[in-house]
Amino acid sequence: MAAVRVKINVTGIVQGVGYRPFIYRIATQNGLKGYVKNRGDAGVEILIEGDQNAIKNFLRDLKKKKPPLARIYGITTAKLAEKPEYENFAIYRSSNEAELSGSTIPPDVAICGDCLEELKNPKDPRYDYFFITCTNCGPRYTTIEKLPYDRDNTTMMDFPMCDFCRSEYTDPLNRRFHAQTVACPKCGPKAYLTTSEGKLITRKDPIHQAGKLLSDGKIVAIKGYGGFHLAASATEERPLIRLRETKHRSQKPFAVMARSLEAIRTFANISKKEKELLTSYARPIVLLDRSKAYALSELIAPGLHNIGVMLPYTGLHYMLFDEADDVAFVMTSANPPSQPITKDNEEALKMLGDTVDYFLFHDRRIAYRCDDSVIRMHGSRPVFIRRSRGYAPAPIRLREKAKRRVISLGGELNNTSCVLLENKAFISQHIGDVENVESKAFLEEATRHLIHLTNSKIETIACDLHPKFTTTQLAHELAEENGWQLIQVQHHYAHVAALMIEYNADEMVGICCDGYGYGTDGEAWGGEILLCTRGSADFERIAHLEKQPMLGADLATRYPLRMAAGILGKEIDVEPWLMGLKQHFPHGEQEIQTILGQLRSNRNLTETTSCGRILDAVSAILDVCYERTYEGEPAMKLESAAMEGKHFFKLEPIIEGNRLETTHMLLELFRNRHKHSKPDLACCAHLYLARGLAELAVEKALENEIRTIGFSGGAACNEILASAMRRVVETAGLRFLVHEAVPPGDGGISFGQAVVGGFFQS
Ligand SMILES: [Zn+2]
Ligand SMILES: [Zn+2]
Ligand SMILES: [Zn+2]
Repeated sequence: MAAVRVKINVTGIVQGVGYRPFIYRIATQNGLKGYVKNRGDAGVEILIEGDQNAIKNFLRDLKKKKPPLARIYGITTAKLAEKPEYENFAIYRSSNEAELSGSTIPPDVAICGDCLEELKNPKDPRYDYFFITCTNCGPRYTTIEKLPYDRDNTTMMDFPMCDFCRSEYTDPLNRRFHAQTVACPKCGPKAYLTTSEGKLITRKDPIHQAGKLLSDGKIVAIKGYGGFHLAASATEERPLIRLRETKHRSQKPFAVMARSLEAIRTFANISKKEKELLTSYARPIVLLDRSKAYALSELIAPGLHNIGVMLPYTGLHYMLFDEADDVAFVMTSANPPSQPITKDNEEALKMLGDTVDYFLFHDRRIAYRCDDSVIRMHGSRPVFIRRSRGYAPAPIRLREKAKRRVISLGGELNNTSCVLLENKAFISQHIGDVENVESKAFLEEATRHLIHLTNSKIETIACDLHPKFTTTQLAHELAEENGWQLIQVQHHYAHVAALMIEYNADEMVGICCDGYGYGTDGEAWGGEILLCTRGSADFERIAHLEKQPMLGADLATRYPLRMAAGILGKEIDVEPWLMGLKQHFPHGEQEIQTILGQLRSNRNLTETTSCGRILDAVSAILDVCYERTYEGEPAMKLESAAMEGKHFFKLEPIIEGNRLETTHMLLELFRNRHKHSKPDLACCAHLYLARGLAELAVEKALENEIRTIGFSGGAACNEILASAMRRVVETAGLRFLVHEAVPPGDGGISFGQAVVGGFFQS
């Protein structure tokens, strides 16, 4: 039979994921000749020659099989008329790979099944080797210093391959062909255990030893792919009390790493979707509802109904459990308050030496930090609390191409940055709160790296409207330095715009609930309904929550009782109530008198429409939380309290024009606080806000002939609010949208700013 020649183009996530070796394998298995090479647009070009049947089989394999990390967006084939000319099948290295624009930088990936089997097999050369990886798994983003993604451009350059590793690396039929992180006990990174001062204890079996130390109640700082974790027993109280004291985290929930799914089932419930997430290549932390049998320490997630759980994602993690009986260990990212996760060995000794008993180090450098991702399920819908390891910086694919290339720097808390390039948005790893020099430096470094890795010629830089944010300052500096156009995007507008582009919606009435955003009038917004259309780079604030005073401004954010006192104090005498709670004021009676004075004078009070602050106030009135020690704490604990609640106590939302009243709701909760149960009242407060805002949004949508209502902002992580709003909106026959690809909280702000710059501006 005459030979045929076919050219094939594949688009998708096909670079850096072992796609060319895969093509090599199926081509040679089918006896075909030709080549495969990367294309400048991040796709792959294949040319094959051979007989018709073999080509048919190849195309079948191409469509049916693929490397686990590859994502195929499209395959086109064209028969060529030229005569066959190739002697064999080859993988071509394109000379311009470094110049690829928008090529895909793979995220870190959890250890694969094949590597895990080898790790446990005493006959395998990589038996018990903590850094076992292959083309289908292992760290990526955290090792890459520059492009192209080659061993010499990663932190693996410090470890020249031994003959054995090299033979696998150069064999196209081997699972480790061109696996840039390939290593073995002989040539690869080594782990070792030290005291808290960095004195070497042992290089022999340090990981199993560390596992036993954790079991014994010791605190160990463990170096991973993208930074250090602080690890401890999940059942012993003492190390957790110490961790909480030294980390200045009296209440903030710790995540745990469990040895297996079966182990998780002993303390939490897992749905089918949650199981999929837990075992996925990204291996995020998943917030699971605690089960009745929960027997881990109460100090892990105080006052919350759920617990953050992940499965091991490196060889090292699996080995920690080998010689310990624990079902789970606490594993929390090791970062000093408001600072990025610790990544260097020296830095770790300095920063964590006082907190831990031991360090489990390895000698591979970390090129870029990356925290664990956190996801929660609302029924069958995933909600990103934090999108980082396992996801970043793989792009979010949009349905349309942006008009402009944009870099955006996000807001202030829980921050990320984002590069928008045609129909791809590359959101950085979690950067955290950008309030100080360290986190500003990390943001700048991560942003420059992102621009470099995507090789994008930026035209516009976007940032928040707040004149004093560190990110706004940095945006001004970068705009000046590079001659970029600068745009400032209002916080809640960015939230809603992000949601619109996620679903390619042209117009939306967006409900945006969160803590704080700088409004166009300079005031503190946070419970907003915005009307947004794609054709305009502006939005209309069509409704909001009632404005409420913040007694002591920022202090009211930290102490929810101040928020509650400010609102109730407009209508009733709150003195007796506050006096009964004086132990919750740092300065006791004196502080209460100052607060009452402010209430009486009623002058110069900062006001806010924030939904977060209302939930905080409810939390204080219902005796759920009096001090916010981490972001969102009172509201999260209130949601946990409401989970048990029934709808026995009902309040009809009161809407005055463009405003949902909140004073009335708080007064009613206050008056009934001894008549109904805490869960029922907490549930009532959620339903009041959700129904009130949703009814307002429906009314505005119908007035403006808009069929889509969206829900965004940090409070959109709240399942009770989201499901109650959905019921109202869908009952009215309108479409209700929530985020799936980006976080509804402030980790999604950079994406929203970028799309306003890239899609909404003419
Ligand atoms: Zn593997
Ligand atoms: Zn080796
Ligand atoms: Zn926000």
